[in-house]
Parts: sequence; C-alpha cells; structure tokens
Amino acid sequence: MLRVKKLLNFLIAMSKRCTKCGEVKDLSAFNKQKRGLYGFRSSCKSCELQYYKDNKERIDIYSKHYTKNNREKINTRRRQYRKDNYEKIIIIDRLYCLNNKERMSTRNQQYKKDNKEKIKEYNTYRCNNLHDGYVISQISQDSSLTPEDIKKYPMLIETKRNNLKIKRLIKQLSK
Ligand SMILES: [Zn+2]
Repeated sequence: MLRVKKLLNFLIAMSKRCTKCGEVKDLSAFNKQKRGLYGFRSSCKSCELQYYKDNKERIDIYSKHYTKNNREKINTRRRQYRKDNYEKIIIIDRLYCLNNKERMSTRNQQYKKDNKEKIKEYNTYRCNNLHDGYVISQISQDSSLTPEDIKKYPMLIETKRNNLKIKRLIKQLSK
C-alpha cells in the first residue's frame, strides 16, 4: 500500500493538469513558480504564451508602468538576487566566456580600442581611490588567488588597502 502511494505521488509529481486547457502534461511543460502547487504555475507554457499573445498590448503597458513606478524595488531585488546567487552567476559567466572565447576577446579588444581615454581615466581614478577592483588586482598580482577568490574575503581586501595606504604615506613623507 505504501509503495503504491509512493508511486502514485511520484507520478503525480511528474505531471500536472493545466487549469486552462485541461490537459495533463509533463512538468517540463509548465513554468516554475515558487508559490505554486509543486512549485509550478497552474497553466501550461503554451496556454501562458497564448494568453500573452491575446493580451500583449495590455501586459506590455502594465509592465512598463510597473517598471517605471517600482524602479527602486526592482533594483533592490536584482541586487539581492545577485548577492544570493553569487556563485551560480559566476559559474554561468565563466561558462559563457568559455563558450564564446573568440567573440568575447574581439568585443573586448574593440571596446578597449574605442575607449582608451575613458579606461585610462577610470584606472587612474581606481588607483587614486584604492577602489576594491584596484586593490583586488594588486592582491592577485602578488598571489595565485583569482579575483573571485579574493572577493570572498573582505578582510583581505581591507588589509591590503591599508597596506597600500601606509606605503603611499611613507613615500609621501620621505619625499
Ligand atoms: Zn494548457
């Protein structure tokens, strides 16, 4: 009996009836939703797409309006998401770079060529203000740690920053 129940639960969990078209479909046919039953939305992807198509104008106006009025909230949420999914985002970024090496390097070179002055100014600014990025680059030059590793240890960055401050101060005093 227990096994049957388990099997039944398993089968139920793998498929779901769409509340719109009424068809029982595989879970992959549903978009995910945190609060939905089993974590999925109640109507299937094709019904949702149809709904979007039928109401495109209304939905687009609404979402534009929403974005405009909730910019702060959206930004906060985005920042929080980046914070909570830091590791995941780094892995995705790395995979993208690996899979698009040529495209990335062409794009990078072009950007550097087009923005020489801007980059120079920005680097000077970062150096003068002991910006996190600058301090991190200094640490990674002197060690085998990658910037991603270093970012995990704010203490390390702070200590290096103070170290650089002292060095600069000594240089200034001994002029
Ligand atoms: Zn459906």
